[in-house]
Amino acid sequence: MVLSRLLPARLLSPRLIAPRLEQFSARLRGASGKLLPSQCILCACTLEGGLLCTGCQLDLPHVYDQVVCRQCGIRNHSPGDFCGHCLHHPPAYSRSIIPFAYDYPLDNLIHKFKYRRHLASGKLLSQLLADYLKHHAQNQDDWVMPELLIPAPMHWLRRWQRGFNQAEIVGQYLAHALEVPLETRLIQRIHKTPAQKELTRSERQRNLRKAFKISEKKRGTLVGKRVAIIDDVVTTTATVRELSKLLISAGAKDVQVWALARTMEK
Ligand SMILES: [Zn+2]
Ligand SMILES: [Zn+2]
Repeated sequence: MVLSRLLPARLLSPRLIAPRLEQFSARLRGASGKLLPSQCILCACTLEGGLLCTGCQLDLPHVYDQVVCRQCGIRNHSPGDFCGHCLHHPPAYSRSIIPFAYDYPLDNLIHKFKYRRHLASGKLLSQLLADYLKHHAQNQDDWVMPELLIPAPMHWLRRWQRGFNQAEIVGQYLAHALEVPLETRLIQRIHKTPAQKELTRSERQRNLRKAFKISEKKRGTLVGKRVAIIDDVVTTTATVRELSKLLISAGAKDVQVWALARTMEK
């Protein structure tokens, strides 16, 4: 009430205030971090440097020792590159690069990052994904680094409630580590969709139709480019399927999906 009397209404818009508050609190966290000894984020043991001890790093649910679908990253029970769903309903994206299953203790880290604004967890997760991507770049001869990174967009109201878009934070880290440009304003989420959990696969997909829009001003930057969509967790693939379809129809040459974790069927 007091602020609204002192400042014009447009300066109090949630869209303008939320990023300022986030910058301020990030600076405070940065300053306090310099005064504290380094600790492992998961087990709190003392560290010489870094964010995770070797023991906890080994405990993470890596997918490299599992057979996963080359396109959507789900655990694949039969030998071969693609899961049944991708074979029968191929998505518009060509492949997923996802280093972890969404299991303990990685799910705790993602939860801390997303819902408790623990940006150190976000930084650690982004580092782990960047390392995995660099490993891919060195070991997969048929793989080409994308030319543009696009974080999965969040509806502005949800972003304001959370204070940040976690996919954008991961994207900023990857753009810096891999030296690939990041484009955060190319796609907007124009509809907030209700919870997807109780819906069938086709209902989820229908729910997302028209949820996203490509900016007319930015459309030109996409044409003929290889792009990677960045997300935190891929669960049903409905979101990344819809986004990749839109990107391909707007002229992208190839779309990959990069994410921190994939929920696996038990
Ligand atoms: Zn540890
Ligand atoms: Zn698949």
